[in-house]
Amino acid sequence: MAAPSSPPLSGIYIHIPFCASRCIYCDFYSTTLRNQGPQYVAALVNEMEERKAFLRDPVRTIYLGGGTPSQLGPSNIVTLLRALATHFDLSRCEEITMEANPEDFIDGTWPLSSPSQPSMAAPSPLFAPSVPAAAKFGCQASPSQPSMAAPSPPYAGGLECLPITRLSLGVQSMVDSELSLLHRRHNAAHVREAVQRLSEAGIRNISLDLMYGLPTQTLQSWEYSIDEVLKLHPQHISAYNLSVEEGTPLNKRVAKGELTPCDDDTCLQMAALLRQKLKAAGFEHYEISNYALPGYHSRHNSSYWTPTPYLGLGPGAHSYDGDRRRSWNLPDLNHYLKGVRQEESETLTDLDLYNERIMLGLRTAQGLDLHDLESLLPKTNPATSSQTAAQPTSSQTTTQPTSSQTTAQPNSSLTTLHTTLHSLIDRNLLQLHNNRLTLTEPGLSLADEVIRSLMILPD
Ligand code: SF4
Repeated sequence: MAAPSSPPLSGIYIHIPFCASRCIYCDFYSTTLRNQGPQYVAALVNEMEERKAFLRDPVRTIYLGGGTPSQLGPSNIVTLLRALATHFDLSRCEEITMEANPEDFIDGTWPLSSPSQPSMAAPSPLFAPSVPAAAKFGCQASPSQPSMAAPSPPYAGGLECLPITRLSLGVQSMVDSELSLLHRRHNAAHVREAVQRLSEAGIRNISLDLMYGLPTQTLQSWEYSIDEVLKLHPQHISAYNLSVEEGTPLNKRVAKGELTPCDDDTCLQMAALLRQKLKAAGFEHYEISNYALPGYHSRHNSSYWTPTPYLGLGPGAHSYDGDRRRSWNLPDLNHYLKGVRQEESETLTDLDLYNERIMLGLRTAQGLDLHDLESLLPKTNPATSSQTAAQPTSSQTTTQPTSSQTTAQPNSSLTTLHTTLHSLIDRNLLQLHNNRLTLTEPGLSLADEVIRSLMILPD
């Protein structure tokens, strides 16, 4: 692991916890009380000021996630980006992603006009260090913070005037009945129109999110969604298996027998069909849920799979120091708006680092370096690994034990690791090339099992 004093470039995640309505499957932290946008942006700017020393290295990527960041509207996003440029070194920033829902580019929240910016296809430094923060945006921007509902005229240009390099659209399906069942607000026609408008506005790096395993979805309807999405020529596609989370309306309706997600076999077939179709369309399968045309992988998400420091801003957002400390803001918007940020943290043990390396590395096409993995094997009983003291950064910080601070299996030996690896390779679930371990095609279908069998889990 890299020494904490010399980490690579860093990332910033900003959580925007507003949604126009709630989708039945979603357990992300968000609220439909959207009129708090300007106050929320002001609270985020306060947190930036408070935590500007967290990142010691220049920022490479910024990710606006949610919730639905596009619900904030252009003026609030301008305010956020200006504040970031004021508090952090963005001179080497290559990628700024914003998550969005298709309907926001149709209902007037984000009016799009003709292209006025150069192509955003090639990542390059976006903020020259010598340029004053106020001049770093291509459009005029009012210093005030207009409401989300009615963007003021200076922002009529909207997205194409901002240094957003990447748009991630929540599509999920191209079948209207499936979208309606999920309580999504858009339909397939909205997706087509939104992508068209974004393309006309000069946005050249669009990622579309899809979901499979949905109630009523069939292999045929899934194939239709894939084909329709490919016709839109996105540069990136993410696809997730529907997961029925506790406390969601979907969970209740599944428990009552009103809805039935696809069975495991169908989900595996859907995942295999996706791999086959996207590969044929020229996409690289660079992470288990992510596909990109060459050069268009998400830099920000890729940094989560390596020991790269990142700062998470907003309620529910997680941060990582690039070494052993993870922390997260509690998901409490009311406290956050009042300026009370409550933070919890954990210190990763040797065993946590070992398990995480397996979990994250095997999800990627790059895979795991075997020597690296061997060197991370905990040398002592993981239950007694030394702990680094947590460094509180907020007045309300608590430190939690990590899952593996209790007890662990005693078989954390090199021999056990090699025996398990041989077995997985013999079963054609793993392959070893140039000392790197990657999942095979059958292994992709059983990724959870392969990963679990290599991890050292607490009793
Ligand atoms: S899935 Fe996205 S749009 Fe739907 S409620 Fe969750 S965060 Fe909001």
